Amino acid sequence: MAVIGIDLGGTKTAGLVLDGGGIVERCRIDTDASSQDGVMRGLLVVCSRLREDAASRGVAVEAVGLGIAGFVDYERGVVTEAPNHPLRDAHVRDILMGSSGLPVFVDNDANVAALAEARMGAGKGLRYLVHLTLGTGIGGGIIIDGQVYRGALGAAAELGHMIVCENGPPCNCGAHGCLEAMVSGVAICRRVEEMAAVGQASPMVEEFLADPEAFSAEAVCRHADAGEGVARDLLEQSGWHLGIGIASLVNIFNPDAVTLSGGLLGCLHHMEGAMRRSCEENAIAISRDHVRILTGTLGEDGGMLGAALLAREGLNAGR
Ligand SMILES: [Zn+2]
Repeated sequence: MAVIGIDLGGTKTAGLVLDGGGIVERCRIDTDASSQDGVMRGLLVVCSRLREDAASRGVAVEAVGLGIAGFVDYERGVVTEAPNHPLRDAHVRDILMGSSGLPVFVDNDANVAALAEARMGAGKGLRYLVHLTLGTGIGGGIIIDGQVYRGALGAAAELGHMIVCENGPPCNCGAHGCLEAMVSGVAICRRVEEMAAVGQASPMVEEFLADPEAFSAEAVCRHADAGEGVARDLLEQSGWHLGIGIASLVNIFNPDAVTLSGGLLGCLHHMEGAMRRSCEENAIAISRDHVRILTGTLGEDGGMLGAALLAREGLNAGR
């Protein structure tokens, strides 16, 4: 069965065709995030290009899966709210089905990334898995007994908004000390900004001051790689908080594995020791001794592959 999987990002709309033998086509365009119509037009373009390219090879696409950062009502195929897109109560499934004539399945991007890691990535074959996407923000997906857990409204698994420090820095969601406010790329850069504000001097802070807009967590990693103590400490602290978050997830879900993906993995070698120590210290022994903390193996393809799997499994289940 050949299916399309599309990852709708804030800047790119990327898709692939997956059949029994693997990935057979790819397509990637810029996302027109200026309006809901612009986003939907881009989705239709990617969908029809992939379908035509597959058809030219004699491959017939049977369904479309879509992963979107935001709150998604899976049952209705509606994007309720999306932080990086002008999508509000958008009936994405019906619009795409109407244009393509194919069955369409829509879910949160981290949910489908979790599905991909559980089916064909680092957690292949595992029934209980928690997935964290570590990037500018932090997303999460939960696999329970082999299935994506979505909650009552499809809003579950916002693992980035698990509070790990009640009096911590403010988060985009309005709370304080969420994992995302402590550990994400944005949070790491904010710590450097705070160092600059109090006049703390170091090559890392100087680089930040020279061009705050261009500064990123990758820059912190570079300074840590070069042996700069404050950069190393900062990433270690982030790793420690990440481990506290993971310990809570381990205690709640008793998963076989916690898998990690996203751009921050480039910094993981500076975070991993503290992450594993804090998880070790804070998680309950029975679950802690069972769980494996693994780096996802699918990279940037994870979202697209997960969306394709969502379509394939949705079609097989007759939904
Ligand atoms: Zn939050």
